[in-house]
Amino acid sequence: MKKVKGTRDFLPELANKFKYLEDVFLEVASSFGFENIRVPTFEKTSLFARGVGDTTDIVKKEMFQVISSANMDKYCRGEYSVSKDGITLRPEGTAGVVRMLVENKEYVNLPKKYSYIINAFRNERPQAGRYREFTQLGAELFGSSEPISDVYIIMLLDEYFKKLGLKNYKIKINSIGCKTCRPKYYEELKKYVEPKLDKMCSDCNERFKNNPLRILDCKVDNDIKLISGHPVSVDYLCESCASKFNFVKDNLEKLNIKFEVDASIVRGLDYYCETAFEVHFENIGAKSAIGGGGRYNDLVELIGGPDVPAIGFALGADRIVMALESEGFFDYKEEEKDVYFYSFDEKFAYKILPAFNELRESGFKVEMELNSRSLKSALKYANKNNFKYVVLIGEDEYQNNSVIVKNMKESDQKEVKLENIVEVMKNE
Ligand code: AMP
Repeated sequence: MKKVKGTRDFLPELANKFKYLEDVFLEVASSFGFENIRVPTFEKTSLFARGVGDTTDIVKKEMFQVISSANMDKYCRGEYSVSKDGITLRPEGTAGVVRMLVENKEYVNLPKKYSYIINAFRNERPQAGRYREFTQLGAELFGSSEPISDVYIIMLLDEYFKKLGLKNYKIKINSIGCKTCRPKYYEELKKYVEPKLDKMCSDCNERFKNNPLRILDCKVDNDIKLISGHPVSVDYLCESCASKFNFVKDNLEKLNIKFEVDASIVRGLDYYCETAFEVHFENIGAKSAIGGGGRYNDLVELIGGPDVPAIGFALGADRIVMALESEGFFDYKEEEKDVYFYSFDEKFAYKILPAFNELRESGFKVEMELNSRSLKSALKYANKNNFKYVVLIGEDEYQNNSVIVKNMKESDQKEVKLENIVEVMKNE
């Protein structure tokens, strides 16, 4: 059997890299007051249609919809509409988190700050850095429309990458305006794009009708060239949006957080507004975005809650691992282990298990022989797995209540009384 295309096996080495990313993320998020949450892996399809937007590629082309076997007969008879009635594996985290906030009335005591680590699913064409199941690290801040919260969340983002040890990431920010200033901008953008439309991709032709901002998100080279001189949203901001954007830029500068303003960064859905940002890392294949986020003041209301402003981001863990690997970050991290326990006969094992446990509880990395292999094979295994010591017990040691401690690096050994073993190992 083979795994499904676009999914990955995480053998210990890769799983450890993800664990590192996740541990640092939870630690940094918590230090900024973000509480960790978990939400379901699947939700009603209609949540994503509304929350991610039914004009997006994600909803139109990339969602994995689930039909339970109980509904399969109905589906085959044409009495069950997948998109209307079904459930879907989450393609991202925000929609589920907003649903959670609304359903549990978490909005009564704002602001609320949440962090989460999720697997997400998109039916995209797999390639390096683009999978059908991938991991996102997310943070959402509900209940503040002040630009200080935009600064706060970008500060968290920047602090995370610094703590992680990634060097060459770039934060790009933009402001896409609000309901007041956007209509004028849309008008100008459409005026600019319209004469080029017949040379542009069919998706862009559709976006032109439903959601012109998303044309700026197009990944087709020819389209990118055609619209390279497009009007930019920051030139059309109303007074309030312009002053908030200036506040954000000013404060990031004062905090020495490096960023650049990039007019092509858009979160092209109606409920997104004001600050939009992405984090990029070049040299990880076609996909350089390792994270993205923005302000979404209208989404909570759209999902059935009250008027709650919000801002958040999601980072792609799979791509961050690639980025760290390309900077050689994990190269030196060959794990050293401490003690390998070996009994010449299984019946001696119970004598050394208390010492095994005591060392384990004191933080030593310990393992023991579980296959009654020959001493030669066990030593070979211990050597290959970077154990510093092997502790042996044979008939003589069993009788003497002692063990042999063998130093694998210096090839010497000594007899130690069992009652002293923990003390001796601590002093080694
Ligand atoms: P998005 O919600 O599309 O902005 O995604 C946020 C982040 O998730 C992106 O910046 C990527 O780093 C990551 N991401 C999105 N789609 C995939 C995918 N198919 N495979 C791996 N990472 C992804």
